[in-house]
Formats: sequence, C-alpha cells, structure tokens
Amino acid sequence: MTPEQLPAALSELDSLALRRVRRVLDGPQGVRVRLDDKPYLSFSSNDYLGLANHPAIAEAARNAAASYGVGAGAAHLLTGHHRLHDQLETELAEFVGLPAALLFSTGYMASLGVLPALLDRYGEVFEDKLNHASLVDAALLSRAKLTRYPHLDLGVLEQRLATSKAKVKLIASDTVFSMDGDLAPLAELLALARRYDAWLYLDDAHGFGVLGERGQGALALLDDASDGRLIYLATLGKAAGVAGAFVAGSAALVEWLVNKARTYIFTTAQPPLLAAAVSASLRVIAADAWRRAHLDGLIARLKMAMADLPWPLMPSNTPIQPLLVGGNVEALRLSDALRARGMLLPAIRPPTVPHGEARLRISLSAAHAEADVDALVMALRELAQT
Ligand SMILES: *Cc1c(COP(=O)(O)O)cnc(C)c1O
Repeated sequence: MTPEQLPAALSELDSLALRRVRRVLDGPQGVRVRLDDKPYLSFSSNDYLGLANHPAIAEAARNAAASYGVGAGAAHLLTGHHRLHDQLETELAEFVGLPAALLFSTGYMASLGVLPALLDRYGEVFEDKLNHASLVDAALLSRAKLTRYPHLDLGVLEQRLATSKAKVKLIASDTVFSMDGDLAPLAELLALARRYDAWLYLDDAHGFGVLGERGQGALALLDDASDGRLIYLATLGKAAGVAGAFVAGSAALVEWLVNKARTYIFTTAQPPLLAAAVSASLRVIAADAWRRAHLDGLIARLKMAMADLPWPLMPSNTPIQPLLVGGNVEALRLSDALRARGMLLPAIRPPTVPHGEARLRISLSAAHAEADVDALVMALRELAQT
C-alpha cells in the first residue's frame, strides 16, 4: 500500500460494506451508554460481569494513584516491577489454581510474547480455525509452522499432531470462542497434548470471571489442570473490568517468560494502580456469584424468546450469543435499524468471521435487566416483519 493508493483502497472497503468506523463513548462503559452524544442500551461490550465501572474497583485505582502515582515509569526488569504487580501475580496464580502467573500489558501482547519464547522455525503450532487473531499473529511471529484445523475438529488435529516432525509442538485454542460463544473441548485437548507431547495454550479471554463457581475461568471445567504443559492466558479487560492480561503455568515457564518473552521485557510495566484495581476486581468476581447466576438467567431468557425468529442464535451457553444473519449488508442493515431504536449490537463481518457468516454479536452482561433482554427481543421481532 502506497500513500497514493490509500484513498481508493478505503473506498473499496466502503463498497464492500467493510469500512470500520469508531463511535465516541462519553461516560463510563456499561449497558446504558452515551455514544456519539446519544443514549443507548448496549449489548456490545465484553464487560460481562458489569465491573468496568464498579465503585470498589474504581476506588482501589484511585487509592493506589494517591499512594503510588500514575506511571510505572520503567519495564518490569528495570525498576517498574511494583509490589502491587508482584502481589497480584501471586493472587492470580492462586485464583486459577496454577503454580505461577505473569502479568502482561494486554492479552494480545501476552500471546505475542509467549509463543515466540517457546517456539522457533523448528516448531509447529496447531490452531483452531476460529482462534482469536492474536493467536494467529503470535504463531506467525514465532516463525514456527502454523497448522490450522477446522473448528473443534479434534480428529484432524490428532492426524496433524501424529504426522508432525516438529521438535516443539504447541496446541493453541480459545476456550470460549470470541465470535461464536461456544466452548473448546478442554479435557480432550489436554489429552491430545499429553499423547503427542505438546504444549497446550488456552486463551480464556472470554471465560475468566464468567466460568467456574468463583469465576476462576475455564480451568474449572478440567478435573485436573496440574500439568506442566498447560499454559493459561486470561485477559483482565473483559469480565474483570480493568485492563491487562496474565499468563499462568508452571514456575519454570513463568521464569522462562520473564527472561525471554519480548513483549514482557521491552515494554513499560502497567501502572501499579491497575494492579490494585485488578486485585479489587478478583475479590468482587469471587464474592458476587449472583452476577454469574443472573447472567445464566439472562442467557436462558434470550434463547427461549428468540426461538421463533428468522435468524438463528448460534449454539452457545456463554454471554456471547451471536445472531447469525449471513450477508454483510443484511447484518449492517439490522445493526443500523437497532441503533435507530436505541440499541447497540455490532455487526461482525469478515475478516473477523468467515464469509457468509456475518452476525450480530449479542453480548450479555450481569448489568442487564431481564427487561433489557425483552426489549431487544421485541425490537428484533418487529424488524423481522419489515
Ligand atoms: C480480547 C481478546 C484478546 C486480546 O486481549 P486484550 O487484553 O484485549 O489485548 C485475546 N484473545 C481473545 C480470545 C480475545 O477475545
């Protein structure tokens, strides 16, 4: 792409209904938001537990800012590794039941750090076709061979593992798929990793806080997660309501990442106030089981009410409830019509999802009321008649 080519390339995005625009949010994130100066009922955040604007979490951040200021001022390996970061890593490891944890600035950066720290061009990464973009990019950056298997197709995965000649193998999968809401078969993936001597890298961006009795995430679905080959990633900007991410696994793994993960080493540590906020968030996540129970109720209510609409909900038991529309233009039309009625649901289009599978991604939050779900269903029912 040259500077001269940019305008025509942008116009082409317009003509394909693929041009992305940003809308400006005023006020806090939540289910009632002001976007471009208009009020909306939002089904479009990843704030699944409604914690992004939780008073106790915001207060923890304010108090930490008062005591420790704003900027970390340096990378972790220099003087940026604050006591609050160190304590939070201990808490996070304990929270998910693994020996050790390491904080990263974002989930994207965590994966870009971990895979290249473990694999080189003699390695092979096996990925579900619907994995998040960050996992694909991480594999490319590592220079390992990248093998993608059809969504949830463990038969193909096993074939590829069996014939692989790679010195180091790594299976990477979303736990909850971000645009589909369905779950990876974690126990079966771990069994394959054991059988073929591979790492298992689980990206729990959409499971942490939501899955498990205490919100401890997808590992709660495994009988036995104590395995040195397991690498667990969770992000802290979704259900946890703050920002950042952590990788958990064996103590040796974390020690290796401290030494070798370039996105950990060559970047400024997150502000300590964010670590304080995440600590506070962990307490709320564990204590407020009602948030998960309420979410489950909303999911069931939505599914029941949508059963007779022309667009199917994709099979999912998580707060991600995609409404499969198909065409890009139709998905945009529906999203626009809902926005005109004061409801925000993003139209998810290629390349985020496969061609012909454009959808509205309904994202439920514990901050939604039952009446909010009912209002959405009513609006969709009316639009189905137009
Ligand atoms: C959001 C997301 C990420 C990236 O996490 P950030 O902290 O937002 O960078 C990684 N993986 C999945 C599956 C995600 O949905």
